[in-house]
Amino acid sequence: MNSSTKPDNLALDPSDKGQRFRDTVSTISAEGRRNWLYPRKPKGWYYSARSVVSWVLIGFLFAGPFLKINGQPIILLNILDRKFVLFGTVFWTQDFHILAIGMLALIIFIVLFTAIYGRLFCGWVCPQTIFMEMLFRKIEYVIEGDAPDQKRLNRSPFTASKALKKGAKLGIFFAISFLIANMFLAYIIGAEALWEIVTDDPREHLTGLSAITLFSFVFFGVFTRFREQVCIVACPYGRLQSVLVDNSSIAVTYDFARGEDRALLNARQKEKRDDGSVFFTNNDKADTARKYGDCIDCYQCVKVCPTGIDIRDGIQLECINCTACMDACDEIMVKTDRPTGLVRYASFNSVKEGTKTRLVTPRIAGYMALFTIVFGLFVYFLGTRPDAEAVILREPGRTWNELTGGAYSNFYNVKIFNKTLNDKPVEVRLLHPNGEIQPLGVPDNLPAHDLVEGRFMVFLHGSELQPGRTPIEFGLFSDGRLIHSVSSVFIGPQNP
Ligand code: SF4
Ligand code: SF4
Repeated sequence: MNSSTKPDNLALDPSDKGQRFRDTVSTISAEGRRNWLYPRKPKGWYYSARSVVSWVLIGFLFAGPFLKINGQPIILLNILDRKFVLFGTVFWTQDFHILAIGMLALIIFIVLFTAIYGRLFCGWVCPQTIFMEMLFRKIEYVIEGDAPDQKRLNRSPFTASKALKKGAKLGIFFAISFLIANMFLAYIIGAEALWEIVTDDPREHLTGLSAITLFSFVFFGVFTRFREQVCIVACPYGRLQSVLVDNSSIAVTYDFARGEDRALLNARQKEKRDDGSVFFTNNDKADTARKYGDCIDCYQCVKVCPTGIDIRDGIQLECINCTACMDACDEIMVKTDRPTGLVRYASFNSVKEGTKTRLVTPRIAGYMALFTIVFGLFVYFLGTRPDAEAVILREPGRTWNELTGGAYSNFYNVKIFNKTLNDKPVEVRLLHPNGEIQPLGVPDNLPAHDLVEGRFMVFLHGSELQPGRTPIEFGLFSDGRLIHSVSSVFIGPQNP
């Protein structure tokens, strides 16, 4: 308990007065090499709670592509076909403005959430943390043991037992990476398309198989070698922390008011009070006998940290709010008969002023107002988008045909999107000017949540034409009701 050895990556230069963390990254050595971290296996209430949450989320992530609402997957981000599905609602390219407003609302929500709760998302919900800390790391603990055993194993000569352990670990890591790659692809192309790739003749799905192989190796590299570097150097959300959080944000925080001055138990025992009690703070400012804080400088909070930092230095970019240091310190507090929560969820201001954390500050109120407006817009556009929409374009490479009786014709291509859950009868009519439409394979029935394509000809009499280009308007009707109108042009001669 009172082992106060500093982890290797924190072997500070005595002259830095504890400020080295401001200019350096804990995972990079003075020579610029990677400091490989060996975080101790955490245990405690928060770790157990995070384990439960992570299993639920991992289950949801893998089941996601197969779960359907209204016959559509819960989430599909098909960039290739430009089809996006969120909770069973299909968004086509024509709905891009709604998606963009939805994305903006999401970004504002993330900013708002982060300003209040710091990187709570990173510790509890982020797939990188969940897979790394709750799956890959746990497997590593099972195969190679806790941090000291792993360190010993890595420094030991290559033996059959070492080869077996490393081989088993890497084999399992690759198998899980392969599964994650499949799941990842299913969110892009859909579970059915993935199933075809897996079950069909491989020669017919070389692109899909190459993508799975590539993703598998990327995930394998991330969880085997890159690890915490994703959070420290690669993740844009992590990099934005310094502008998103302030002194009122709730984060994993060391209570310096209670913890300082830190001192080893040995030192305290040498200097007992007159009544024989060991010096600890009871946070009573009137306690003139107070000499030390509750931190016994045991470094347990640092040894469990998966990003290798010392939370007692204050909030840092590397901290993913994983709560491992909270559990570690709580265990020490229980053993030393002090109240738990020396490292806890709190804001800097609440620790400094000894008050409760204030959730709503003027900045938070501003973000809330902005979020309400943008989210309201999103709901409005989503609620008022037409049931079906058409894209009508003149056929490329064609001009006009002159017909007998002074009439002219143009060819058009049409794509019609049904955004509802039901099949829909549809008909394209000419709204303006007067003329006729002759369908050339335009389907009159639209399957639910689907897209159909066709062609048609438009005939206009010369008396309706303007020189060169004549504005023209089509209406998309369903059951006799106009549901969408589309503007285009009709090309004719300069002197019709
Ligand atoms: S904060 Fe807690 S775990 Fe960390 S060194 Fe102090 S007593 Fe130990
Ligand atoms: S400082 Fe604590 S909460 Fe932050 S990453 Fe390290 S162990 Fe997790």
